[in-house]
Amino acid sequence: MRYQVIVIGAGMVGTSIAWHLQNTGTQVLMLDKRPPGSETSYGNAGLIQREAIHTRPFPRQLVELIRVLPNHSTDIRYRWPAVLRYRQALLKYWQYSSPAEVSKIDQEWQTLIEHCTSEHQEMITSADAEHLIRRVGWIELHRSEDKFNNAVKLAGEAVEQGVTHKVLTVAELQEMEPNVDFKDYVGGIHWLNSWQVTNPGELVKAYAKDFEAKGGAIAEHSVMAIEPFEGGWKVSTDDGDYYSDDLVVAAGPWSADLIEPLGYKIPLFPMRGYHQHFEVTQKNMINHSMIDMDIGFAMGPMQQGIRITTGAEMTLMDASKNFGQLTSVMKHVKKVLPLENAVESEAWCGSRPCMPDMKPVIGAADKHEHLWFAFGHSFQGFTLGPVTGRVVQQLMQGQEPLVDLEPFSSKRFGDQ
Ligand SMILES: Cc1cc2nc3c(=O)[nH]c(=O)nc-3n(C[C@H](O)[C@H](O)[C@H](O)COP(=O)(O)OP(=O)(O)OC[C@H]3O[C@@H](n4cnc5c(N)ncnc54)[C@H](O)[C@@H]3O)c2cc1C
Repeated sequence: MRYQVIVIGAGMVGTSIAWHLQNTGTQVLMLDKRPPGSETSYGNAGLIQREAIHTRPFPRQLVELIRVLPNHSTDIRYRWPAVLRYRQALLKYWQYSSPAEVSKIDQEWQTLIEHCTSEHQEMITSADAEHLIRRVGWIELHRSEDKFNNAVKLAGEAVEQGVTHKVLTVAELQEMEPNVDFKDYVGGIHWLNSWQVTNPGELVKAYAKDFEAKGGAIAEHSVMAIEPFEGGWKVSTDDGDYYSDDLVVAAGPWSADLIEPLGYKIPLFPMRGYHQHFEVTQKNMINHSMIDMDIGFAMGPMQQGIRITTGAEMTLMDASKNFGQLTSVMKHVKKVLPLENAVESEAWCGSRPCMPDMKPVIGAADKHEHLWFAFGHSFQGFTLGPVTGRVVQQLMQGQEPLVDLEPFSSKRFGDQ
């Protein structure tokens, strides 16, 4: 059987693309080695981040570099094999992180972010997934006066872009979250029009179920190779071959390896994060997700318990787990919130798909007909899945996309 479209990857990005295509009458097969929403789109902090109007540049100030270099910091760590393997991408990341470049990149990035909640809403309603969404915002916590003042200034500027917030004193924080010890903090910013999802993997599964209800097909197989075939595509898996007219690669951090044999060298690199859940008690119950901006962890109330997520560890995709960063983070977390029993015996880890210029790759492949890319959403792929789904569907069906996709084209890397 030949499908109209095969989408490889059933994370938030692939599922949203499959949903939008099927919703407009295209017959889609979504292929993933695991059930929908089982990888990075399962393990994230579950925030739909309307406030995320700035990308995350490489630290360029000397004081920041000196802080990160000894590899003991809680928010970012690295392992040398990954630094060596991704050295060219990292060099580019450094270059794209100059203030002038970041200012331009942020403007392009904002064209996607501004649609994140409205695009999720359409899918939430259709998938009957309202019970997974908490529209209570989330709280950014600060320990240093300087950084807090700067964050308050940026929050003020974000109002112009439709981002709403409230600056909170320590007393106000304490009133909102009585179980948290705020003595080491100087204040917080409550992002009001961002949303929290109480089980990110379940939201992807709900979208995937709705996709199936619309007539879409899902197959659980590992894709081994893709090749052009009779004007369309042949997708070889560990359980036979599948055929389609069009092919979408939305395989998150695995995407670059899948398309490299076709001649695409995309400088995608992984940034790993860890999470662990802790049992909820009367003493640690929290109402909002909170991110400690100085130590670099998030704590959020999830269906499985209180989820603690870490910042970034630059490591190879298949490297063994290293719990050093999580262990350091937990020492700080436990000073803030009384957490005792872990829900799982071992922490989860997964990788953010990152690009040197901090923008995802979305659009038509430049060397092949009927091939489409959608990956590299780095720290906000859970937020940006549905808007990516919308624009990929529009592009594939010859409509004017909601967002100008030129800045996100894979052509921007030229022939590498
Ligand atoms: C700790 C942490 C916290 C985060 N917090 C947030 C947050 O609060 N908000 C936010 O917006 N983002 C957050 N992110 C980022 C976000 O999770 C990712 O950007 C997003 O999940 C990427 O989605 P994706 O669909 O591109 O990739 P994935 O969810 O990883 O999906 C890719 C899929 O492709 C499949 N696949 C890969 N190769 C193959 C193959 N060969 N054959 C078959 N299937 C294949 C995989 O099995 C996988 O299911 C966080 C990330 C981490 C690690």
